Amino acid sequence: MGVYMPVKKVLKRVLLAGSVAAVVAPAAGAGELSPVEQQIVAEVKAHAPQGLALLERSVNINSGTLNHEGVREVGKLFGAEFEQLGFKTRWIEMPAAMNRAGHLEAAREGKQGKRVLLIGHLDTVFEKDSPVQKWDRKGERVRGQGVADMKGGDVIIIEALRALQKAGALDNTSITVMFSGDEENAGDPISVSRADMVAAAKHSDVALAFEGVVRNKQGVETGTVGRRASSSWELVVKGKQGHSSGIFTPEAGYGAIFEAARIIDAFRRELPEADLTYSPGLILGGTEASLDAGGARGAAYGKNNIIANTTIVKGDLRYLSQEQGDRVHAKMQAIVAQHLPGTSAAISFHESYPPMSPTAGNLRLLDAYSKASEDAGLGKVPALPPGERGAGDVQFAAPYVDSLDGLGAGGRGSHSPDEELDIPSIERSTIRTALLIYRLTR
Ligand SMILES: [Zn+2]
Repeated sequence: MGVYMPVKKVLKRVLLAGSVAAVVAPAAGAGELSPVEQQIVAEVKAHAPQGLALLERSVNINSGTLNHEGVREVGKLFGAEFEQLGFKTRWIEMPAAMNRAGHLEAAREGKQGKRVLLIGHLDTVFEKDSPVQKWDRKGERVRGQGVADMKGGDVIIIEALRALQKAGALDNTSITVMFSGDEENAGDPISVSRADMVAAAKHSDVALAFEGVVRNKQGVETGTVGRRASSSWELVVKGKQGHSSGIFTPEAGYGAIFEAARIIDAFRRELPEADLTYSPGLILGGTEASLDAGGARGAAYGKNNIIANTTIVKGDLRYLSQEQGDRVHAKMQAIVAQHLPGTSAAISFHESYPPMSPTAGNLRLLDAYSKASEDAGLGKVPALPPGERGAGDVQFAAPYVDSLDGLGAGGRGSHSPDEELDIPSIERSTIRTALLIYRLTR
């Protein structure tokens, strides 16, 4: 910093920082905050009411994933804030057939420090006809559509950047903000709906995502260093159709339903390991079985006196690293291949969210976040056990850059009618985030 800045501005900044330092005494047990960092904290606190007002405005615009107009309107509201902070914004359209509103990207380019990607989303699970209230404040808590998941997180990003800008600390930094318009129900194909997220990650050094902060069992706010891959599998089993009275003979074999049962039961007994889950969600078997185009509904026909010749099973599979995924795929393939007499079977896999593994780089990033929190008197931030979260957008960045998630707002009941925000969590997360971005971009 400094070499790109006129002397007058530097002087003004030093004076300002000095005056703020005089009034903001570090909290007991706090570590070291530089004068500029103390100013950043003071700016966050000073602007908290306006930040909450911005959150209220955004929450009062319904932006269910399929309400394109609403998603775009929230994008416009937040986009204007980024423009004010000196970012260039653009709206990324998705193909019409995808039926998604698109995404907001805001970016600034500089030459200093790490290139940072900040991830949020504009949509919520509450569609336009949802009976859930929009904004209903009672004391330090607010209930409403997306207050915590994750318009609260979006506002944390904006308020952190605003504090940095006021302290002159955005100058010459490279920061990209991606707000997806379809995080809650990602557009298909995912290779298209997440292409811009992947491109932004490849252009960055670190990714910070602002899904809700989760407290651990001790009640301490954590950071998310890993999220499991979300993938699916489909098993198709064939048998020989014949009279039921001949089943288990060498000629008739065991039929498709016993073979499917053998496979699924072997999965249950032989696959369990840490951070892995798998669950069959749909099964159809008989002499005819077929799935609808959507893959969630189907039809089956069969008779008691006929050996079934077809069974289809669809299921879910979640794992924490690509290595774990590859190993479990191979084990499942091997189980499938041990056919009962007179049957055959094949299994296929489809990955939708790649794993965010708890890498050494992610843990270092959490350490830096935790240090910033401690220095601001907000305590250490430990890692959430990585198996404990569902899938999120950060997973598209995680294969390319050190990543951290769960830096957003605190609350409870996300996706439910009782979704609730803990208002003071916004200020805590904003302070931690602003200090981390400041330190990463020096
Ligand atoms: Zn979310």
